[in-house]
Amino acid sequence: MPIRVLPPEVAGKIAAGEVVERPASVVKELLENSIDAGATDIRVEIREGGRRLIRVADNGSGIPDTEVTLAFARHATSKLKDVEDLDRIATLGFRGEALASIASVSQVTVLTRPRGQSMGQHLQVDAGKVIRQEGRGSPAGTVVTVEHLFRSVPARLKFLRQPQTETGHIHIAITRYALAYPEIRFSLTADARKTFQSSGSGELYDVLIAVYGLDVAEKTIEVASARESEQADDVKVGTSAPPPCLVHGYASTPALHRANRTYITFFVNRRWIQDRSLAHAVAQAYHTLLPVGRHPLAVILLSMDPAEVDVNVHPTKREVKFRNSRGVFSAVQSAVRHALIDRSPVPVLAHSPQTWPAPDWERRQSLVSAGRGEQDPAQLVMELYRPDDQPLVGPVRLPLLRVVGQVGQTYIVAEGPQGMYLIDQHAAHERILYEQMMAEHEQESVTSQTLLEPLHLDLDPALAGQLGEHLSFLNDVGFIVEPFGGTSYLVRAVPSILVVPDVRTALVDILEFLRQGDDPLAAQAEERLVAAVCKRAAIKAGQTLTNEEMQHLVRQLEQCESPRTCPHGRPTVLHFSVEQLEKEFGRR
Ligand code: ADP
Ligand code: MG
Repeated sequence: MPIRVLPPEVAGKIAAGEVVERPASVVKELLENSIDAGATDIRVEIREGGRRLIRVADNGSGIPDTEVTLAFARHATSKLKDVEDLDRIATLGFRGEALASIASVSQVTVLTRPRGQSMGQHLQVDAGKVIRQEGRGSPAGTVVTVEHLFRSVPARLKFLRQPQTETGHIHIAITRYALAYPEIRFSLTADARKTFQSSGSGELYDVLIAVYGLDVAEKTIEVASARESEQADDVKVGTSAPPPCLVHGYASTPALHRANRTYITFFVNRRWIQDRSLAHAVAQAYHTLLPVGRHPLAVILLSMDPAEVDVNVHPTKREVKFRNSRGVFSAVQSAVRHALIDRSPVPVLAHSPQTWPAPDWERRQSLVSAGRGEQDPAQLVMELYRPDDQPLVGPVRLPLLRVVGQVGQTYIVAEGPQGMYLIDQHAAHERILYEQMMAEHEQESVTSQTLLEPLHLDLDPALAGQLGEHLSFLNDVGFIVEPFGGTSYLVRAVPSILVVPDVRTALVDILEFLRQGDDPLAAQAEERLVAAVCKRAAIKAGQTLTNEEMQHLVRQLEQCESPRTCPHGRPTVLHFSVEQLEKEFGRR
């Protein structure tokens, strides 16, 4: 084909793909516009997860009648005028792309009136073209209605998840802005039911309660960077450079933790951002305070000179670049660490590190000798018949192994005919449970256990969406879960392997794992669910195992079809061959 410039509709749709990924992206852009317009009350209404309808109504500045058509042109914005402005962006929007992008993949209606104008404007745009404009009576502010999102983009429509899941994403988008703007009242009405409301009191703590509930909010402490006077003293005596930003927010006490880092939320100059390195800074502040593999909940707001941060990195503006990223990292880490030490109700300094404690030599000695005694000649013969020289691809069975001991409360050391094996106890147990559960599932014989008392779960809409989407699968793999109205569910039974003291947390964790694999192209939903259950039910790293427990685990792993990897594809076993050991020790 010859090279040619794409017609504007096609170029528009391609560009829109970057900005409008799913209904929640539309909500995010419209919220940003309302906030930029100075609104103090923003009401969001959606139907069918936003696919049928998204409406955002605000009491902000409104759009002057002479400009309302222009608002839909690509790169049309009232927030920037020249290149220099790009270096000091103080608004959430600036690319002038959102309305144009949204309008090119849906039907948009705008009703808007600036306070100083007596008559409002009503504008209808279909697939990017203005099809009607007329004067109309209207309250001061702007109402944008988006209907039939992606109707003209079947590729996108196909990737939309169930309405409950999309509603969950929208809920998250709104709660993020509510946290960043406590002085604005936000509400979400989904299918005629109000599911979220913030008070607009101006207090971050009030929003924390509205978003996460009182139980969670009570387990958080306030985070604030050192008082400015203290910082000034430090700078005077030359102990530190002035930090590039001020930090404030809330972080969980060590008593509250979650299965992943999605509950660590950052805002830079009140813009929500994603930043792995900063999440790591927060996690580091909790070093040794949380159980292995658990993560804190935190809401951290950074304020800094706009010239210190580049927000023009990503079309959706969710990634930023800091001029002094190291300074920002340490400001966040030290603010959180200080809060934990100064304000935590737990005597944190008294905690001893939980990883890699000194080995218990006596116990170790007994493990080693017990292992030796266990090796019988019959087993040795079997080992010789199952040499382990196959390449490490595909489902390769394990040889019979002799357990030697445990390292770091995490790895099992074992000996086989071809050398030494290190087994990750968690990954291995996950694999074992996974194969057992899948086999039981195929024969429709998953064993479940009825709870003494049904468990009442009241979930946030995002998790409720996950649960709703997987309800029938959950019931197939041994849960008995029933909808209980709205975002509530009743759990009557759980798979037998999941009989743990805290079923509620276990179930929330499983829904979280499922959400992380939120990829429509990932493996079957059913397998993902089973894998998530097994991940939760498996022995954790950092857990001391008796010799019998290790033997049992290794025996079961030997029986597995694909013993070499966990259900998520990580290795369960590392093999150090005799040759390798001899070479390393210079015997060859
Ligand atoms: P950007 O926000 O990057 O400027 P948008 O396409 O989102 O680009 O919006 C274009 C323009 O329309 C904005 O610059 C603003 O002037 C106007 N606008 C959009 N939504 C609103 C609103 N809710 N209230 C007032 N003005 C708005
Ligand atoms: Mg905008």
